[in-house]
Amino acid sequence: MQYFQKELETMNREERKALQSERLVKMVKYVYENQKPYRAKMDAIKLKPEDIKSIDDIYKLPYTVKQDLRDAYPFGMMARPKKDLVRLHASSATTGKLTVAGYTKKDIEIWGECAARCLVMAGASPESVVHIAYGYGLFTGGLGMHYGAETLGAVVVPASAGNTQKQIQLITDFEADVICCTPSYIIYLAEEIDKLGLKIGEDIKLKAGIFGAEAWSEGMREDIEKRLGIRACDIYGLSEIAGPGVACDCQFKTGMHFQDDHFYPEIVDVNTLEPLPMGESGELVITTLTKEGMPLLRYRTRDIASLNNDPCPCGRTSVKLNKITGRSDDMLIIRGVNVFPSQIESVLLKHTEIQPHYHINVDRVNNLDTMEIVVELSPSVEVDAVAHIEEIRKKLTSEMASALSVSAKITLVSPGTVARSEGKAKRITDRRKL
Ligand SMILES: [Zn+2]
Repeated sequence: MQYFQKELETMNREERKALQSERLVKMVKYVYENQKPYRAKMDAIKLKPEDIKSIDDIYKLPYTVKQDLRDAYPFGMMARPKKDLVRLHASSATTGKLTVAGYTKKDIEIWGECAARCLVMAGASPESVVHIAYGYGLFTGGLGMHYGAETLGAVVVPASAGNTQKQIQLITDFEADVICCTPSYIIYLAEEIDKLGLKIGEDIKLKAGIFGAEAWSEGMREDIEKRLGIRACDIYGLSEIAGPGVACDCQFKTGMHFQDDHFYPEIVDVNTLEPLPMGESGELVITTLTKEGMPLLRYRTRDIASLNNDPCPCGRTSVKLNKITGRSDDMLIIRGVNVFPSQIESVLLKHTEIQPHYHINVDRVNNLDTMEIVVELSPSVEVDAVAHIEEIRKKLTSEMASALSVSAKITLVSPGTVARSEGKAKRITDRRKL
């Protein structure tokens, strides 16, 4: 099986552009009529839906930013009433308030089709057994790939995250040929498989993997491919737009094929926000062309990347997204979970036994992301009151885990120990080598 939706995936560039134009014109009108916050942005610059005549006019449209989603929390950005929505997903935002995305039945169908295209790009077919070790829940990773595999007609194993020994047993017994999880987890899994003495190709029959939700390098790709004898594909997505399936590597790995009949990408200069020419690196901006529940026009993803338009031997004609190289804000991605320093601050500020002087150390140990938060004790706490300090540490550890949805090691230090800086504090040391 080479394509999931051959006609859409291989249409020529002119047809693709015509389809994008037709969809954008409709989408702008739809958003103007149904999404109040965006209508206000267009009115403010006296832009009318009729001013957008083709995809070439997209630069005239104002940007949508995460703050817009936060201001409209929870339902202000939905273009449909609640009765038309069938699903809500959410991810962390800077204030600790969630970024909510609503989906109609059709949105979920299209999401499933996009994820199915990605699975086929990686080498899956309706005969495949697809093992999904992404978390299921508000996070879109698990369910997105789940829909993709079901839409493809493959057998889905919804293993979700955690319990590595059981995951390995399921992969072995059910003879999974495709796996979906984070890149750091697959390396951890490969090590455990090795420790158990299982044979690649005999006990473990994996042929391909789709790995996303965190940044990873070409070096990691080589390592994963060698250890497990599989094809390792990168996938891109974000819950605000759809979840996984927005773009994915095919077997030739010439950049992730962007599903640009549904999601239109642009790269803009991080400082001036002016559109950049093909190939240049800047902030990725995405416009949904078919979304009903929460359409977004020119959404600034804060991900730094570049696009390429080189022909791909696979025959797909979409534009391609090169690997994400960073973020234009201070968001950290720890084991696939979005973490903002401001979320950490809001937990620290609730406690008088500590001071909001802190430093975050991020590392990758045994291929898993680790996060340590070094916090200063308040001068009122006796430094030798060991039991009391341990109690504070435990309390913070549990509150932090619940606020961030990911665990962090809390280290309490004496007052004045955390380095102060003038101007913007540098609070993060990221030692992960990609
Ligand atoms: Zn390709």
